Amino acid sequence: MIAKVIVDVPSRQTDRPFDYKVPEAIEDWIEVGSRVGVPFGGRVLQGFVVGLSETATVDSSKLKAVAELLDPVPPLLPDMVELSEWLCAKYCCSRTQALGVMIPAALKGKEERYIGIEEDVETVLLPEALKEEIRENGGWIKLERLLRSFPEHAGSVKEGLRSGMLAVRSSIKDRLAVRTVLTVFPLEDTVAMAAAKQAMPRSAAKQITVLEHLLEHPYPVAMAQLAKELSVAVSTIRALEKKELLSIREVEKERDPYGDRSYERTVPLALTKEQEAVYSRIADVIRSEHHFTMLLHGVTGSGKTEVYLQSIQYCLEQGKQAIVLVPEISLTPQMVERFKGRFGTAVAVLHSRLSDGERYDEWRKIRSGRAVVAIGARSAIFAPFRHIGLIIIDEEHESSYKQEESPKYHARDVAVRRAKQHGAAVVLGSATPSLESFAAASRDMPPGAPSPLLPMPSRVSGRPLPEVEVVDMRSELRDGNRSMFSRKLHGELLRRLERGEQSVLLLNRRGYSTFVMCRSCGYTAACPHCDISLTYHQKTRLVRCHYCGHAEAAPGQCPSCESEHIRYFGTGTQKVEEELAKLFPGIRVIRMDVDTTSGKHAHERLLSQFGERKADVLLGTQMVAKGLDFPYVTLVGVIAADTSLNLPDFRAAERTFQLLTQVAGRAGRHHLEGEVIIQTYSPEHYAIAKSQQHDYAGFVREELRHRSVMAYPPYCRLALVLMSHEQLPAVIAASDRFAAEIRELAQHEGVLVPLSSGRPRAVEVLGPVASSIARMKDRYRFQCVIKYRGSVDVSGMVQRVLQSLLKETAHRGVQFSVDVDPQVII
Ligand code: ADP
Ligand code: ZN
Ligand code: ZN
Repeated sequence: MIAKVIVDVPSRQTDRPFDYKVPEAIEDWIEVGSRVGVPFGGRVLQGFVVGLSETATVDSSKLKAVAELLDPVPPLLPDMVELSEWLCAKYCCSRTQALGVMIPAALKGKEERYIGIEEDVETVLLPEALKEEIRENGGWIKLERLLRSFPEHAGSVKEGLRSGMLAVRSSIKDRLAVRTVLTVFPLEDTVAMAAAKQAMPRSAAKQITVLEHLLEHPYPVAMAQLAKELSVAVSTIRALEKKELLSIREVEKERDPYGDRSYERTVPLALTKEQEAVYSRIADVIRSEHHFTMLLHGVTGSGKTEVYLQSIQYCLEQGKQAIVLVPEISLTPQMVERFKGRFGTAVAVLHSRLSDGERYDEWRKIRSGRAVVAIGARSAIFAPFRHIGLIIIDEEHESSYKQEESPKYHARDVAVRRAKQHGAAVVLGSATPSLESFAAASRDMPPGAPSPLLPMPSRVSGRPLPEVEVVDMRSELRDGNRSMFSRKLHGELLRRLERGEQSVLLLNRRGYSTFVMCRSCGYTAACPHCDISLTYHQKTRLVRCHYCGHAEAAPGQCPSCESEHIRYFGTGTQKVEEELAKLFPGIRVIRMDVDTTSGKHAHERLLSQFGERKADVLLGTQMVAKGLDFPYVTLVGVIAADTSLNLPDFRAAERTFQLLTQVAGRAGRHHLEGEVIIQTYSPEHYAIAKSQQHDYAGFVREELRHRSVMAYPPYCRLALVLMSHEQLPAVIAASDRFAAEIRELAQHEGVLVPLSSGRPRAVEVLGPVASSIARMKDRYRFQCVIKYRGSVDVSGMVQRVLQSLLKETAHRGVQFSVDVDPQVII
């Protein structure tokens, strides 16, 4: 038997399956998806079996054998191995990256080397101490440990290995061991135990205590706990083990990050008519076992989550499993509680704040079938279920579903692909669907076929959506108000304070202020490694680069002209916090942004404080816009809607509309009426006007018109190819070559025509141009944007061009990064 193995080496040349012989001993165990250790270039490396066959591609007598099988149960299922191929083809990543993204970090094993003494070889030249140490360790000892214990013999070890007196054996060790606890198991035969107790001499009082306890509580118990509870020594328990009156075994222990909490069980609510209609459509698709993607377009507060819960329930009743994706920042305790409350321990939760160990344990719950619902951020889409019936993506428009490093996958597209493999239903839910999803769901369907669009236009509570007022900050300025708060917002905040109600303030920008500038000479503090200005952080009095992390002390005077008139421009959350304290003495503010939520449970803690009404205002970046449900929030204020509107990205208007709609949805969700105030310098912009009117359809019409004229998605697709090098000429040469070659290839295939031509298959190549951040981390950056339409395999074309380009020595050192369907173009 031959195993085809993708070996974990980060090199393009080796990114293909290699053949290995399968030793007979593991033939019955090895499967597609198994993780193995294989000899590779003189070492033992980790790899994944992507195929098994009877025949090798090369002379099989020369093949090396698989060195070890790393897990009794393969971590990957065959359909995931297939999915990894699709990931490579679609997102231009390596097989190693594609497989790596599917498994928890704990399974990315490292090589370990062990040293032993070679048999039948004269070893008299080896120091006695070394040989003794190795023998005492059962013949093999970790190289590291040997060198640490005998630093003075490092030379002898080296010589021993060179001359063949010492042997080396490699193995893969997981980054993380399964945690085990020593557990005491009482005898099943309690009669025998009782009899033994009777027969014990009085001097064995401690042992008698233990037996008495176990007779009363005949269950397995952690040894440490038992010893502590009864104030006996571990040796006492061991003594009973020797007498075979109990047994002690190691038991795998799971780190359950939610284990210390209990969740009140909830029961399904009676659905509203709107919810019922949507639910039965989803149930139909699950039952049909034919993949179908639906878009649940429900306004904020329309009760989407209850629909998710009952659809999952249905899915589980069909004997299938369900995956729920939520954006990382809305994976709040509130959200987890709703799922744990309904499905209890059958839920595995995967989010980025878990330690590697906790993540691994949640993952194992899924792999072993003990969990049947996985809820998590982006990467939970790779939950290793066998029979997926339903995949839900909540807030499907969120850009965090796109991974920014390789493989640059979009969880939505992976979801559709997995659902196809499993015959599962996909439900994309949002109050403000992405234009891509909305366009796809609104497409013409064959007559009689059900529409993929599932609307829920009203709130469960029957409450209207909150009143939204737009304040023109230009007229505030004209009237002499220079504060960051309009008179309206100021007045309403005051009223909330008086009434003891709560407010949410959104500022889409972190830090104290955006940039530091000298008013005398115009100097701005910029990162020495990136073409980007530095951000001032007041707490630490540092200026920091948000791209590379470079930090330096904030200048007290201008480094360029030595003027004292150095000023901090822009408004950040910290500055708003200060202003609030000045304007409303005694106000209690919770600030939530990247800087205050870096700790493991910080996010959670801040929100529960706000929930307990320990603060009047929750101030923050977009984190405060998502998914929160607090009954006493009656005011939502947006300090400056323009910040996201002015970003140089074709999705700026869409992002702004989504953000405003989301944050407005936080107000008046329960019995108290809500109000929303949006401050802006461009009140006439349709993204702002339409969000004021809660008019999603109107916004989409306007935005689609722009996208159509400019030929942007959903009217075409994009691929972004970014090239970087330390030397400017090198990156210019490479990017020119790339653009020329890709045009030539498209020409050759007859698809190099403008999108405006109306041809069904079309490719346009824009650039190369310098990226908007033209230098980052000391590398110059150039990019090409490829726009295309129709069934053109642009990923394949890009890969072909890159492969030939990278072979040329002239372009050595150029780094390429390919982003298919990019979410951000910078
Ligand atoms: P969305 O996710 O669409 O913004 P939620 O799922 O948070 O809305 O629902 C809003 C509120 O309505 C929640 O407090 C939820 O418990 C409640 N709710 C949802 N469905 C029902 C129902 N059928 N009957 C009563 N209350 C409901
Ligand atoms: Zn100056
Ligand atoms: Zn930098």
